[in-house]
Amino acid sequence: MKTVIKALLPAHAGRNGFYPTHYPPIDSWPRAGRSAASVPALWERASTAFRTGMYAHVPFCASRCDFCFIPVEPYRGKEHAERFLRAMRTETALLAPSFSGRRFDSLYVGGGTPTILDKRALGEFFSALRGAFSFEKGMPFSVETSPQFLDRGKLLLLARQGVSWISMGLQSLDQEVVSRAGRAQSNSRLPEVFRAARDCGIPHINIDLLIGLGGQSAEGFLEDVKRTASWRPDQVHLNVYKPVRGVKDPLRKRMRTLLQEKAMSLLLREGYTRLDGDSAVLTREGQNKCASVDFCLTHHLLGLGPVSLSHIWGAARYENFPSFDSYAAALERGRLPISRLVTLDAVSEMRHYVIANAERNARIPSAAFKERFGKPLESEFGRELSELESRGLLESTENGYSLKEAPEAVPLFYSRFCEASVLRRLAATGENRARSK
Ligand code: SF4
Repeated sequence: MKTVIKALLPAHAGRNGFYPTHYPPIDSWPRAGRSAASVPALWERASTAFRTGMYAHVPFCASRCDFCFIPVEPYRGKEHAERFLRAMRTETALLAPSFSGRRFDSLYVGGGTPTILDKRALGEFFSALRGAFSFEKGMPFSVETSPQFLDRGKLLLLARQGVSWISMGLQSLDQEVVSRAGRAQSNSRLPEVFRAARDCGIPHINIDLLIGLGGQSAEGFLEDVKRTASWRPDQVHLNVYKPVRGVKDPLRKRMRTLLQEKAMSLLLREGYTRLDGDSAVLTREGQNKCASVDFCLTHHLLGLGPVSLSHIWGAARYENFPSFDSYAAALERGRLPISRLVTLDAVSEMRHYVIANAERNARIPSAAFKERFGKPLESEFGRELSELESRGLLESTENGYSLKEAPEAVPLFYSRFCEASVLRRLAATGENRARSK
């Protein structure tokens, strides 16, 4: 069981630390096979009590950074872009009829590096989405960017499209550090690109920095934070480096977390407000609303593009093929590019709600649970709550329950709130992985 719980925990850790928790965890989702064909009908029946957001993924990057743990496709230029756009148009055409009468109330374009596409291809990408689906006017619209692949022309295009928030993944302002990490980025243009984004009318800008890159000193990192704050981005995100391979070193991790705290204090002194463990904002309006923890607890999410995840509230979760080639090949055969799919019910959504809140805030808000699901938390999970309380791992508070800080609290919590079938599927995935090594 311990192995299963260990396998479960990383599956919950989102990229950038602010992506929503997934329940059931992705590693337990079965292969989709023929059930992929049921997805348009599931979307047609999706509850209208929930709003719908969209995530669209552009899988290309100039090179692979050594700290990256998502599948990316080395970009080969025009032909690559054409194949991607053809696939994206087919995917939107297959799904659009299921969304007639429904408006998306947010759009998040991530990657990869979406702005690696040239201005024309980027324009066609947005046209493919806007031509197939309806969107709310003035909705939160976020795009991940890299300063290396941004110029005035692309920035003006983003502003004209109504982009309200861009994220610039800088990671480090030290050229040697980013080059050593295998990142295609020239730091000499950073202030100029940042100013251009403001001049072109992008309302909100986030900057991502990474703590613990090879060759980075603590002093150098804090200097980066100070310089970044002097540009006044609306949000600063401080990610702690997690090794993609090799042995994890808890001491180094602790040092990085301490450095993150120091950097956060520095941002607070510079007039920022702490949003969560990783990020700080100048004003609450400057926060990326598409990436809030609540998002997947309050929305359906349609994912488009390779590796994207979709969430049909109370009905299913599914994942598109992670590799660009498999994604494009499925669409070239006229099929939805879905690799894994799990169906679920309202009780699974309750479990998701409890786990997401415990993971994020170490607490379970009972009034909010009742408001969301129309029944008391205890009526669904009374046995689990009592057991954890009697073991001293959960404490009843005025507003619900809080999770105690104890090494055994988190694994036990997961094992009680995950369905047995989910734990069995996770165990099978772990065993298959071990056999294939
Ligand atoms: S630019 Fe971002 S998505 Fe691309 S390889 Fe580097 S970290 Fe990964």
